[in-house]
Order: sequence, then C-alpha cells, then structure tokens
Amino acid sequence: MKSYKGQHFGNSSIRQILGNITYTGNLLFQKEYVADPISKKSKINRGELPQYFVENTHEAIIPMEVYQAVQAEKARRRELGALANWSINTSCFTSKIKCGRCGKSYQRSNRKGRKDPDANYTIWICGTRRKTGNAQCQNKDIPEQMLKEACAEVMGLDKFDEIIFSEQVDRIEIPAPNEMVFYFKDGRIVPRHWESTMRKDCWTDERRAAKGRYVQEHQLGPNSSCFTSRIRCDSCGENYRRQRSRHKDGSFDSVWRCASSGKCQSPSIKEEVLKKLCAEAMGLESFDEMAFREQIACIHIMAPFQLSIRFFDGHVFEAGWENKRKMPGHTEQRKQHMREVMIQRWREKRGESNDDTGNDKPIHGNADQ
Ligand SMILES: [Zn+2]
Ligand SMILES: [Zn+2]
Repeated sequence: MKSYKGQHFGNSSIRQILGNITYTGNLLFQKEYVADPISKKSKINRGELPQYFVENTHEAIIPMEVYQAVQAEKARRRELGALANWSINTSCFTSKIKCGRCGKSYQRSNRKGRKDPDANYTIWICGTRRKTGNAQCQNKDIPEQMLKEACAEVMGLDKFDEIIFSEQVDRIEIPAPNEMVFYFKDGRIVPRHWESTMRKDCWTDERRAAKGRYVQEHQLGPNSSCFTSRIRCDSCGENYRRQRSRHKDGSFDSVWRCASSGKCQSPSIKEEVLKKLCAEAMGLESFDEMAFREQIACIHIMAPFQLSIRFFDGHVFEAGWENKRKMPGHTEQRKQHMREVMIQRWREKRGESNDDTGNDKPIHGNADQ
C-alpha cells in the first residue's frame, strides 16, 4: 500500500491514521484551532477549547470497537516504553534502571573484547551519556554481570533470576556513580553501594578472593607479588607462578611460568616485561603496584606471546611480547670456555690442512697446553 504521494507510509502518518476518529464514521470538531489570527498557524486542541463530537456523520470504514482497541493498545505501549518496541533488544532491565542525575533510562550496550571473543561483555549506560557522551551526564556505566550480582544479593538469591527480578523489582535508580537504590514493588527501598568488578565469572571469583589475597600477600612479605594468582594461562586454565633466580651480584630475576609448565606449552614471561606492559596499559611511565591493584583484575596469556590485561572497569588491553634469550658469554667462566672451544677448532682446522700438505706436526693439539 502506498500513500497518495506514491511513497511508503511513514511512521507518523500511520500513527495519525490509527488515531483518527473520522474513520469510525464520526466527526470530532475543533481538533485543531487557529492560535494566532495573523500568522494563521493552527495548534492541536489539547483542551484549550471545547471539542464537538458528532456521531454517524458518514459511513464508517473502521468499527468503533477496533478504533478503541487500537487506542488502548497505543496507551499500553506508551506505558511500556522501550519494552513494547520489538526492534529494541530488551532484557529484564530494560527501562527499569533510571539515571538519578538526568532521569533517563539506562540502555544496554554490547562491547567487543578485541580479538578475544570471550572478552565480549555487556554494560548498561545512561541514555544521555550514550547519546551525548560525558558532557551531559557523568553517571557511571554498570557492567551487566555486576548488575546481576547486585540484584541477586539484594533479592537474597544465590544466582540472578530474571523472572523473580521482574516480579519483585519495580526499578533501580542510580543516584550517583557506584550507588544503586532498589525500589521493590512491595514498597521496600534498598540502597546498595557497588564497586566495579569483573564482567566474567572467573573474575568474580577472583574479586571475591581479592581481599583475602591482599592480606595473604602482605603476610607473605617479600615473596608475594601483586601478580600472584592474577595471571591465567588460557590454554590450560592454570595460574602463572613466579620463579626467582638469584644472580651472583645478589640481584633477582623473576620469571612467571604456567603452573603446569611441564605439560603446557605456554611461554614464560619475565616480571620486568609484565611490569612494562602493565604500565603501558595503565598509561603510566613506570609500573606502579598500587595502581595495578586498584585497576587491573587479571592478565590472560591467550596464545604464545600474546596476552590481555583486563581492567576492573571492563576494558581490555592486548599486547604481545617476545622472550629474548640472554646471550651467553657474560661470565668469566663462559668466556674462558669459549676461548678454549675456539682454540680447539683452530687446531682442528690447522691439523686438517697440515694433513693435506703432509706436515708431520701432531694433528690434534692438547687443549690443556
Ligand atoms: Zn544520566
Ligand atoms: Zn598453561
């Protein structure tokens, strides 16, 4: 069906047709009125002037019951908001999370973790912030995983349940970053403070253990590290562990290896390389342990020499590295050994050439001489 201009009907003209009572064979007068007699601009009469309804003025093409059903459905959808719009990917949180700063609903947004499909995640972001950026509203995004955990906790459930949520919770308001207020349908109001956590289950477990680990690390003293149990090998699932080797001058060299390094092929990584990459990821000139603990949730060794640094706020930094072998020959002992090898080779060569010329000198010299 085409409009009289021969084009497809636009949304607004369909809306106008659905709302036009004239099709029911009745007329409503003074739907619009001329507000300004000079400009002759007309305005929709929203009750400023009386309206006159005249029944059965002409033949109906739409029965009155259908018209009324359509009006009821329009009102229902207006009430539902985004939930009534099939083109919007809705969830149980759709139009239930309200920004306390600007009043808009939070919207769902899928974020792609670069390269690593496991790093895909979903956040909820204030509609104003999503449209216009930080300028109009600075309220914080909420990772969906975090939202579900907070809901489960407030509802007293082990695991988040969409149906129970929809039944119990009327709305969640976000009055300020890291604050949430749950409005239950039974009238209860439950505020909750939240901290950015990880968006993956393994991170959640890690977050839960974080406090205990922090204490543990401080009790363990100099042997502990901020990297302890934060580096995961993606190919076998084990954590990386630190190995330290002491040099003659008393300095340490720390290398992190997959805990099942005998069976697993994932490469080791030097602590200094880890620190350099983390500093880069955090935008710092040099590594800062406090900043690391505050910002970085975990590091995944994804593929040989490829890692991803995952932040508590959900963003991911990916990087590659290489393990350069230290050139041997730094120690005196090694230098001496190489010297002997060279002499030996030289003598062997000379021995061969002597053989060719029929010289009677001994073919092989003694390296001890
Ligand atoms: Zn907002
Ligand atoms: Zn491994």
